Amino acid sequence: MALIVQKFGGTSVANPEKIKAVAKRVLGYKKQGNDMVVVLSAMAGETNRFVDLANQMQAIPDPREMDVLLSSGEQVTVALFAMAVKEMGYDAVSLLGDQVKIVTDRMHTKARIKSIDAELIRGHLAAGKVVVVAGFQGVTEERDITTLGRGGSDTTAVALAAALNADQCDIFTDVDGVYTTDPNICDSACKIDRITYDEMLELASLGAKVLDIRSVGIAKRYKVPVHVRSTFSENEGTWVVEEKKKMESMLITGVTYNKNEARITVAKVPDQPGTATKIFKPISDAGINVDMIIQNTRGSEMTDMTFTVPRTDYKRAMAIVEKTAAEIGAEGVSGATDIVKVSIVGVGMRNNAGIATTMFETLSNEGINIMMIATSEIKISCVIEEKYTELAVRSLHKAFNLDAAA
Ligand code: ASP
Ligand code: MG
Repeated sequence: MALIVQKFGGTSVANPEKIKAVAKRVLGYKKQGNDMVVVLSAMAGETNRFVDLANQMQAIPDPREMDVLLSSGEQVTVALFAMAVKEMGYDAVSLLGDQVKIVTDRMHTKARIKSIDAELIRGHLAAGKVVVVAGFQGVTEERDITTLGRGGSDTTAVALAAALNADQCDIFTDVDGVYTTDPNICDSACKIDRITYDEMLELASLGAKVLDIRSVGIAKRYKVPVHVRSTFSENEGTWVVEEKKKMESMLITGVTYNKNEARITVAKVPDQPGTATKIFKPISDAGINVDMIIQNTRGSEMTDMTFTVPRTDYKRAMAIVEKTAAEIGAEGVSGATDIVKVSIVGVGMRNNAGIATTMFETLSNEGINIMMIATSEIKISCVIEEKYTELAVRSLHKAFNLDAAA
């Protein structure tokens, strides 16, 4: 007998039939003697519908009122779900974030969880009930409703699993798990059976949007085993877990890419202390994330500074940098948005020196030019021309023997 937290996303509870099917599935685990805590998202499309409604009321919707509105979708699904369970002859109770005391900071629409009081849930579990908690929502110390940011139900589930010291947290979604690369562009992508928290963090931040990135950070901190799997099949999905020795047998776990990238180059920057601060401080003050940075020297007094920003922030960043460039006496600013960042991720690369070379060779054999390179302990990223995305991903997937994995 175990304590299991199970989260079902919007597509899994999209209509009454699906809610009943999910209730039946959860009761299957309950009948085996497990204590069940269920976290639900709003029905698919609902949260977007609320955003549209809000935009019709106010040019910039009031954040506090926005959260009252956004949180309502989850209130609907938890109530319906509890009814479905009761109809099937078992006891259930629906609970909102406020009732569970999921206390957050005051950052409306992107609040962070500060604490969870597990007592109420424990009491209901002891009484034999299936506990159904609204995902995505919390409450401030002043008792205002908050939401955790889009996709935040994953975070609710993992945080609850941590607070309850649950044996596992199942994240049910509409895909079978985490893949070695994007199946939409590579036919030979395979489902990964086990992946470490760190690898998942790298893959999630690089765009493998299966799991909300914040939930993985919490899972790692509290060592919650997370099982990402499909609502629509009985198959095992992907386990996101702590690193075990034998997980290093694969050199690379996945190949990923991010098209939300743009490059900015400041030419002939005077090479003296303080210029990096002058260039990057105004960008970060504007809330724009700079990712890779490369500085090439041109003789002794000048340097070129090249870096990447999210493509969605490109225009804003350009305007800021052009102003700075004029101020510091740089020659000019140029940029491009037709680039992509392709990355390989894997704990196995820690003890293998040749991985980077294999990556560079694979790309050059395809005639792909590498514009920028960045590495971390378990990741190597290359910026290349966007038109080579598919070719690069497929050839790297093959070069690292992922075609044959799983
Ligand atoms: N319903 C929220 C959203 O659409 C939360 C979630 O689905 O995780 O973002
Ligand atoms: Mg979701």
